[in-house]
Amino acid sequence: MLRIGLTGGIGSGKTTVADLFASHGLEVIDADAIAREIVEPGQPALAELADAFGHDILSADGTLNRGELAARAFVDPGHTALLNSITHPRIEEETARRFDSAEDRGVPEVVWDMPLLVDKGYHHNMDVVVVVDVDAEERVRRLVHYRGLAEEDARARIAAQVSDQVRRAAADIIIDNNGPLEALATQVSAALEEIRSRWE
Ligand code: ATP
Repeated sequence: MLRIGLTGGIGSGKTTVADLFASHGLEVIDADAIAREIVEPGQPALAELADAFGHDILSADGTLNRGELAARAFVDPGHTALLNSITHPRIEEETARRFDSAEDRGVPEVVWDMPLLVDKGYHHNMDVVVVVDVDAEERVRRLVHYRGLAEEDARARIAAQVSDQVRRAAADIIIDNNGPLEALATQVSAALEEIRSRWE
């Protein structure tokens, strides 16, 4: 089974590219979705977070109030480490389970849509690394325009991630998403063709 790591800076268009790979029939493992699922009501991580950070992190309907958790967890490195010690093992376990399941089902290619693929060094475990690349200034513009982020917030989030240069250096294939959305589909088809001819 070919493991394809898909990454890019915040607002680069990873999800859009992952959807295009899915439209070609590739199985996609969405890291952000897993991170959300492991803290859904009824999941052990949510109860542990409430015990660790206080039950005020739960909304009236029992779902996680992310703002409240962030306000309590990101105050100092110790609290952040506690948060990570509760969530990260679950995320890793579920991710491994999805890869194993795909392998058991004889799935030929899996795309792991993972924002922090390079930041965390996970790209070393992949057969192919695909990076969606967009100039930082254009990403700020899209995050403000389409996502409604404050410009300062967009810049701070970009600065908190690994640099574009480091991410690009880890890439086997770079998808340039500086152009219009319509240009992406052709590039994803070409990337898939290249992957199948070079790695399979
Ligand atoms: P995040 O890092 O926040 O998860 P992402 O990398 O998954 O983001 P997307 O959600 O795919 O990025 O795209 C970010 C936003 O930019 C979306 O609103 C998307 O529609 C828009 N977008 C993506 N590509 C382009 C493009 N080429 N031109 C204009 N807008 C685009």
